[in-house]
Amino acid sequence: MDLGIAGKRALVCASSKGLGKGCAMALAEAGVTLVLNARGADALEATAEEIRAAHGVEVTTVAADITTEEGRAKVLDASGQLDILVNNAGGPPPGFWTDWEHDDFIKALEANMLTPIALMKAQLPGMIDKGWGRVVNITSASVRSPIAQLGLSNSARAGLTGYVAGTSRQVAKFGVTINNLLPGLHDTDRAVSLAEAAAKREGITVEEAAKARDSANPTGRIGTAAEFGATCAFMCSVHAGFMVGQNVLLDGGAFNSTT
Ligand code: NAP
Repeated sequence: MDLGIAGKRALVCASSKGLGKGCAMALAEAGVTLVLNARGADALEATAEEIRAAHGVEVTTVAADITTEEGRAKVLDASGQLDILVNNAGGPPPGFWTDWEHDDFIKALEANMLTPIALMKAQLPGMIDKGWGRVVNITSASVRSPIAQLGLSNSARAGLTGYVAGTSRQVAKFGVTINNLLPGLHDTDRAVSLAEAAAKREGITVEEAAKARDSANPTGRIGTAAEFGATCAFMCSVHAGFMVGQNVLLDGGAFNSTT
């Protein structure tokens, strides 16, 4: 399927690895010009080179912490006016409800709620003027089915989800769509470290921990960054103009629900 977005300009935040990289790769395959961001310059440049070599698109890199005002200013400066914005950042650490103080919540809200809102606020007016735009926020399956030890993430992502629910309906008539993409467990560095932690906790090998994790999913496996990226690219395509304010869950059916 031709996604109809060749030549469009996209920013993919937090994209040197994992799900962000998967989204960048799929958008590049569709012919989109990219601005990529991550804190570490080396991995970011390596990913940019890999994407240029694979798809021949123009890729600009900005090494910066997207969760800071200074980092966002650098990224926005290099971006100019975008057609497509994919919001992403690392998730807050796990813990127990008694661990989290005011400042921990502020940090989580800054990273996973206020950062994507600030980037949308900066880019939506230009998209509205052009009469076309796509925003995809990478959130988490925990928005639908909370993970108790991720209370900071649950809280911040719920806030973003509420913002998107309203704002997406205010901008839809201008040809601009905002949706969230909710990953269940995917095969990124995070999945490896979770399997390592489970192996240590349960006194089993990492392979055994990964096998137990995989068999708990209806598909018998975890997702890939390429599958995740392809879904993101479709949500950014010309075909997805009637998809507004949705929370698209990509978890292999792990969340057991009829709706
Ligand atoms: P990942 O493989 O660890 O990759 C994270 C990427 O984000 C890296 O490129 C990293 O590069 C960059 N990054 C992290 N913090 C950043 C910051 N403050 N500013 C700029 N770039 C930053 O992570 P992932 O698995 O793709 O997860 C992406 C998001 O999805 C996270 O919020 C995670 O909580 C959520 N999620 C993931 C899964 C999963 O199974 N993978 C499931 C549910 C939710 P640098 O470190 O160099 O900055």
